[in-house]
Amino acid sequence: MTGRRVLRGLGVSQGIAIGPASVIVWDLPTVTRRVVAVELVETEVQRLQDAVAAVRTLLEDLRERTRQRAGREEAKIFDAQILMLEDPDFLGEVETLIRENQLSAERAFEFKTLEMRALWSQSPSFQLRQRVADLTGIQVPVLNHLVGKSLQAALKDVAARPAIVFTRELTPGLTVQLEREQVAGFASLEGTRTAHAAILARSLRIPCVMGLIGGFEEVRDGTEVILDGTHGVVLLDPTAEQLAEARAAEGLRQELAREMDKVVSEPAVTADGVALALRGNVDLPEELDSTAEHGAEGVGLLRTEFLILGRTKLPGEDEQAAFFERVAKRFPAHPVIIRSYDLGGDKYPAPFQSAPEANPFLGWRAIRVCLDQPEIFRTQIRALLRARRHGDVQLMLPLVTQVEEVEQARELVAETARELRREGVPAAQDLPVGVMIETPAAAVLADELAQRSDFMSIGTNDLTQYTLAVDRGNARLARRFTPHHPAVVNLLKQIVEAGERAGVETSVCGEMASDPISAFLLLGLGFRVLSVAPPTLPLVRWLVRQVEVRGAERAAEGALQAATTSEATEVIEEAISHYVDLELLHAGRLPGVNSAATLKSP
Ligand code: PEP
Ligand code: MG
Repeated sequence: MTGRRVLRGLGVSQGIAIGPASVIVWDLPTVTRRVVAVELVETEVQRLQDAVAAVRTLLEDLRERTRQRAGREEAKIFDAQILMLEDPDFLGEVETLIRENQLSAERAFEFKTLEMRALWSQSPSFQLRQRVADLTGIQVPVLNHLVGKSLQAALKDVAARPAIVFTRELTPGLTVQLEREQVAGFASLEGTRTAHAAILARSLRIPCVMGLIGGFEEVRDGTEVILDGTHGVVLLDPTAEQLAEARAAEGLRQELAREMDKVVSEPAVTADGVALALRGNVDLPEELDSTAEHGAEGVGLLRTEFLILGRTKLPGEDEQAAFFERVAKRFPAHPVIIRSYDLGGDKYPAPFQSAPEANPFLGWRAIRVCLDQPEIFRTQIRALLRARRHGDVQLMLPLVTQVEEVEQARELVAETARELRREGVPAAQDLPVGVMIETPAAAVLADELAQRSDFMSIGTNDLTQYTLAVDRGNARLARRFTPHHPAVVNLLKQIVEAGERAGVETSVCGEMASDPISAFLLLGLGFRVLSVAPPTLPLVRWLVRQVEVRGAERAAEGALQAATTSEATEVIEEAISHYVDLELLHAGRLPGVNSAATLKSP
């Protein structure tokens, strides 16, 4: 074989899969030009309606299969596609194209969906761009139905043993249609960690790599493949040595998984008896169930920007109140910390239009937007006060840099509570307000901020970015983006001490807490509350149960004294190795947790 032997992408579902490649071309079919005679136009409209009805039935069937195999929340992924096929405006426009331009059903449907695709895929909104996958989920099957290409023919019998499926775009439909016995892993050209198909692959525990850089032209049906869904690497025609290594790594991962399973319902208490609270970071409603099932003690960060996913308008008060209530009820007796919209910077959903800025990360974003557009902020606060009747709902402010921002936000909360009382709307009268410490300014002012806040939570993704002047989204700088940099470690120490002085809870909700090695450092620095990405909850819990605080404290002292990042990391790893097998720990680590690669933004 010529060409590349290693393909790289984004690991979106952990684990190593070994097997023959199967390239599935389940793509948009070629639609030929055909003018429809005027008297046959209504027949053509009927063909469209029949195809839409058939695909809707298929999607309903897939939704049911997903419910059985993955869960209720995951099954909802198909709702958006089914809704699109039921949208009278969208279908009406396709029918108009048939009637007025005498286009064939497939041509009209192709025209309309390609137009939407172009619009969405060029949108500055990450969320709208992500919805392109939903569009593909209806576009491909409807067009294939109309041109007479059958689904089953495309899903050819892959191989005698489970295959690694390569496809341009992995849709949720394709993910569930392939039986577990047929598929060992997935690799696709398009997609990211938060794509619906990625969520499904994780739920179904199928290793998956998305966003393969440079395509997969060299892959043929039957090419032997090792797919590493943890590190986002695909090896073609591996050597015997590579196969042995991959099997050993997967063996370690599975051993670790068994260890983690043993402690899944145990508390996160260190070997020397210190308890930690582990909460979950929730981005998508689909992640709620798995967060609860992984034993999260509440939600430490709910990124409300994700509520706007694929919307053209901001969600209203009732919808937000209902969602916050649902989250609160999913975690009774635990805090549910809801962050007000963190818009701007890297987060531009469609309904949030703002003038282009030269430096969006230093621009009109987060709390600045909330305070400057109080009507948007007030709607969130009203929803939060209403939901607080059902649980320990709290408000968290992103990207605070000034004391006045906290004061103004608290004033707005008090005013809004009075407004609800005047209106006779059932709602709580108080709402704890906390700040995110995400900038050097906030870190230095932590004493002042702590006095005016009910809690502090450190967003280490942004704190690292702003302290080190390293763009968190710039892959070229990924190695420089590290919270083990002595400057960041020292700021973390100052913040936790400020929290202790003021007696307010100080937690970490940045991705740093999701990495077991960094979590050990945080424990040593004095943090007792961490909020982590739900898939990493079992690993962080397992680690906490293996280690002792006194060892973590020694590691933290070393890291605080270190002159360089590598020195700090070395000290931490050396200290950890007294408690756990580092190789085993590394086998379970999600790569890029501390780099830009997996940082989520809508
Ligand atoms: C952070 O900055 O660390 C954080 C948790 O917020 P986000 O990643 O959403 O910016
Ligand atoms: Mg942030």
